[in-house]
Amino acid sequence: MGRRVRKKLDAVQRVFCQKICKAHRTVSLNSALTLAGILPLDLRIQEAAALYEAKRGVPQPILADREVEKRVAYTNTPHPAEQIELYFTRLENCEQVEEKSEHPVQIYTDGSKIEGKVGASLSFWDRNAEIKSVKLSLPAYCTVYQAELLAINRAKKEVLKNPATDFGIYSDSRSSLECIINYNSLHPLAVEIRENIKMAQKLNKTVALYWVKAHTGLERNERGDRIAKEAALRSKRKAEYDFCPLSFIKKQIRSRTLDTWEERYQQGETAKVTKIFLPHVVSAYKVIRKIETSSLTTQIMTGHGGFSEYLNRFKCKESPACICEPSEAETVTHLILECPVNGPERYDFENNIDLELKLENIPLILSEHTKIFLEYCKKVAKKAIKRNENKIS
Ligand SMILES: [Zn+2]
Repeated sequence: MGRRVRKKLDAVQRVFCQKICKAHRTVSLNSALTLAGILPLDLRIQEAAALYEAKRGVPQPILADREVEKRVAYTNTPHPAEQIELYFTRLENCEQVEEKSEHPVQIYTDGSKIEGKVGASLSFWDRNAEIKSVKLSLPAYCTVYQAELLAINRAKKEVLKNPATDFGIYSDSRSSLECIINYNSLHPLAVEIRENIKMAQKLNKTVALYWVKAHTGLERNERGDRIAKEAALRSKRKAEYDFCPLSFIKKQIRSRTLDTWEERYQQGETAKVTKIFLPHVVSAYKVIRKIETSSLTTQIMTGHGGFSEYLNRFKCKESPACICEPSEAETVTHLILECPVNGPERYDFENNIDLELKLENIPLILSEHTKIFLEYCKKVAKKAIKRNENKIS
């Protein structure tokens, strides 16, 4: 991105971030972004561009040699006139499952993610006994959702191969089944499953889809769950499906953005006071979410506000000194950590949190005692701001 474009973006977002966190107009971009809990706009734009390219199959360093799971193009899906109606039946307890267990071949499918590994399974039953089982493995970056769909897809392929004509396919993943019966969903596995269902119909095979509520205590379901976990854990062999889900890529892109933003914040000359409270932008976001941002909290966490040192710097007050001592500048940290005028409040607060209020403790105290720490800061800041208002006017 060109320097001029970046400068323009910075100017625009500085203004709206200042408005969001109710900051003085002198507050720097880095402080305003951090306190508004917003990512730099130029990085967001780069994120969007990277995601767009990844979706289109342009190789990304983030992806290494993984290939993105692409949605099927609308033009490659059947014409609405050729779509057969699809549905699944819900089975919420053992009795309902029993009722729907008359199919000569029943296939229980499942997907599982365990210890960061992903697996899927199929368990074939005729009436009361398991005939065979199949384990499928997927790479760690895949989702359980992909595993569930992969298992159902494999079940459909088995249906086409098997000489029997009546099948029941059971899954405990409602979202996968909903994706399959919804023609608007262009997930490649869902599209393939729909094609296989159509093919099976042409071969005069009936295939009923069932959603079995998870943990209905059913032996078949539990068995499927167990072998899916086994499949995940012993996934040393080649993966049956290894397209990278978009969710994974988004996460990778976001993590790269945060690294860049962190580095920019750390190396920036600005946001000195903000860094005392929020030394890292990533953890700052967690703290900021808990805070009810006001003009006062922002004055405290930027130093830009009604404090003598700031007022003096911007030529609104003759002296930067605090009332306690002519040689002491009235800064936020002085008021919070040292000023004897605030001794009683500080004493009460330290007793309350059982921790010494020191410069290096501020980030910890802010994140662990957010509310009462800000109450204390607001109390001492308000006193100083009021003193200075009286003197200026
Ligand atoms: Zn003082």
